[in-house]
Amino acid sequence: MLNCLVIGSGIAGLATAISLQKAGHQVTVFEAYREPSDGVGGFLTVAVNGFDALDTLELKGAATKLGFSTPQMSMYLGSTGKHLIDFDYGGSLPDGTTARTMTRSELYGMFREAADRRGIRIEYGKRLATVKEASDGVTAVFADGTSAQGHLVVGADGLHSAVRPLIDPSAPAPRNIPLLNTGGIVEAGLLPSDLLDVEPGRMKMVFGKRCFYCYMQDPGGRIWWFANPLQRSSEDPATLDPSARKSWLTHLVAGDRTPMAQIIAATDDIIRPYTTSDFPSIPSWHRGGLVLVGDAAHAASPSSGQGASMAIEDAVALGRSLRGISREDIPGALSSYEKERRSRAELVVEWGRRNAAPKIRGQFKRVFEDLVLKAVFRSLARKTADSFDWVYRHHIDWDAAETALASQSKSLPGRPANQPLG
Ligand SMILES: Cc1cc2nc3c(=O)[nH]c(=O)nc-3n(C[C@H](O)[C@H](O)[C@H](O)COP(=O)(O)OP(=O)(O)OC[C@H]3O[C@@H](n4cnc5c(N)ncnc54)[C@H](O)[C@@H]3O)c2cc1C
Repeated sequence: MLNCLVIGSGIAGLATAISLQKAGHQVTVFEAYREPSDGVGGFLTVAVNGFDALDTLELKGAATKLGFSTPQMSMYLGSTGKHLIDFDYGGSLPDGTTARTMTRSELYGMFREAADRRGIRIEYGKRLATVKEASDGVTAVFADGTSAQGHLVVGADGLHSAVRPLIDPSAPAPRNIPLLNTGGIVEAGLLPSDLLDVEPGRMKMVFGKRCFYCYMQDPGGRIWWFANPLQRSSEDPATLDPSARKSWLTHLVAGDRTPMAQIIAATDDIIRPYTTSDFPSIPSWHRGGLVLVGDAAHAASPSSGQGASMAIEDAVALGRSLRGISREDIPGALSSYEKERRSRAELVVEWGRRNAAPKIRGQFKRVFEDLVLKAVFRSLARKTADSFDWVYRHHIDWDAAETALASQSKSLPGRPANQPLG
């Protein structure tokens, strides 16, 4: 049995802790925050490949009770209100499970309760400072002066990982995507019921005149929305107070033929806009007894819609690679894990970047770009429906033979066709 030290109690850290315990190891999670991050963050979507991985951790049932089903999306031009294309958000698993949109907090809460139930200890206020390596294991040293010894340190510590530079000091910094992210949820009943031009569960994505945004309705009548304004060096919307933030966003959607201005006006608590980034590739995901999972290894643009799903996939793949092994086998198991995950993760990062590209539009070129967008989506509609199977149909077989690890990604037959995310 290995003693595993997981750094970070986000989605990747908690999923990895559960997977490593399933693999027969002892796990402790160390989190920099002083307390659980319940209630923090906006919302995200778990795609069907994420649910497939959750199934292996026996958490699919719990996760399908969170948020609401969002199996479809439609794209529109804001300037004319013209419909561009409809997509499925990854189809469904054989039992009918579809993509679901949920608050980051409820997904986190589900994982934390699952870890508690399994007796996995989470220590808060433990910010990793460095790691000391010796022939018989690793010692994680925390900023408060305490330390913990183990055989393996798993860096699940997000975009600004402390473990990543310990694996390779030349690892690149995150790459900026010039889009901000903000959003909110409007309580049911605050807007006229006939205002929303989209049925519950369908994400309406709009290439607006000045800003890309998306809104959708949950079955209880609440409206969930996000917006990706262009990041400009001349302004810093993160410093705006809530009322100025509302005016700034209202101005960005003004003139679009959608109800977005009313939706913004009815939102009580608009998320402070934050910058977005990704990683093209990092030199190595592991060295000695150190390894990375989730955003620490391969952050993708939020436009991939895959951040949480990929983190859960990593967790399952790492647990499977380390299943039942002893200390001497760690380097080989970590190599198998990286080999299995790297190319898929980097493809998703690239895909997310491509999804973000049409959202990055200057107002000056907008009319021309509207025409190009129409042509692009018309050609996309002609493509085969299964072009995006590689994203959504991924299955990690926990029981696969070790020799098959590197090539075990396989298509799951008999599922409905799927399509890309905007
Ligand atoms: C509070 C919070 C809110 C979020 N809200 C959203 C959202 O609304 N929408 C969305 O799409 N995505 C959101 N994300 C990101 C999303 O959860 C991740 O992209 C995805 O789930 C993969 O997560 P991760 O676990 O790899 O990284 P993260 O979610 O970033 O988790 C990393 C964890 O490691 C901890 N940590 C960092 N450095 C150290 C250190 N040195 N020592 C110990 N612990 C450390 C962090 O405090 C954090 O808990 C949020 C992340 C966080 C942390």
